[in-house]
Amino acid sequence: MILARPRQVSSILAGLGGARRLAVIGCQECVTVCQAGGRKEVSCLAHLLRIAGLKEGLPLMVTEATVARQCDTAYLAPLDPLVEQVEACISLGCGVGVQFIAERYPGVPVIPGVDTVGGGGTTAPGVWEERCAMCGECVLDQTAGICPVTRCAKSLLNGPCGGSSGGMCEVDPDLPCAWEMIYRRMKERKSLDDLRSIRPPKNWVSSRSGGLRRVIREDAMR
Ligand code: SF4
Ligand code: SF4
Repeated sequence: MILARPRQVSSILAGLGGARRLAVIGCQECVTVCQAGGRKEVSCLAHLLRIAGLKEGLPLMVTEATVARQCDTAYLAPLDPLVEQVEACISLGCGVGVQFIAERYPGVPVIPGVDTVGGGGTTAPGVWEERCAMCGECVLDQTAGICPVTRCAKSLLNGPCGGSSGGMCEVDPDLPCAWEMIYRRMKERKSLDDLRSIRPPKNWVSSRSGGLRRVIREDAMR
């Protein structure tokens, strides 16, 4: 899923300009799971905004809405009558959701209500960790299912570096060294010999550095 964390209410307020009639829009997908932008968070933020407006002596009219998925125009149509009535939207979807809403309603400012962090999952109650940097060419088959791009602080394809100590990363001693984990898992699988060969430089053409990426599948167009 896409990981996101709530932005400070003060940052959201700062982005409102003079807008007083607002829609806070949540998404029932990833941001609901990571408790940053689902129905519950929409309600919390709406209350906080109303209180902040009252404190300033400028009451805010805040309407709450949550759609099944902000990153799909098919689910945005029900918002049309609501967005017609407001001066600004606050999207609690990930950065994709914010952009889809802004594209559908180009005349209305859309303020991000969360910061989008990356692709990851739940590792403990209240803890979500990044697992995929969406590099566009997966190497997990070569690294025992542990992503070196995301989990090694230097994104090394041939590790560990010289700084790994006691199984922990030199960049952050609270983080396990990804390459130590890869080594241990390969040892468990009795495939340590695979680590003897040097992995060639990764093809980063499919990564973010080449600009906007598209996935086009003709079979899915039918
Ligand atoms: S190698 Fe790339 S696609 Fe595969 S998990 Fe890591 S970042 Fe994601
Ligand atoms: S200590 Fe391990 S995880 Fe940290 S940068 Fe070096 S190889 Fe990567």
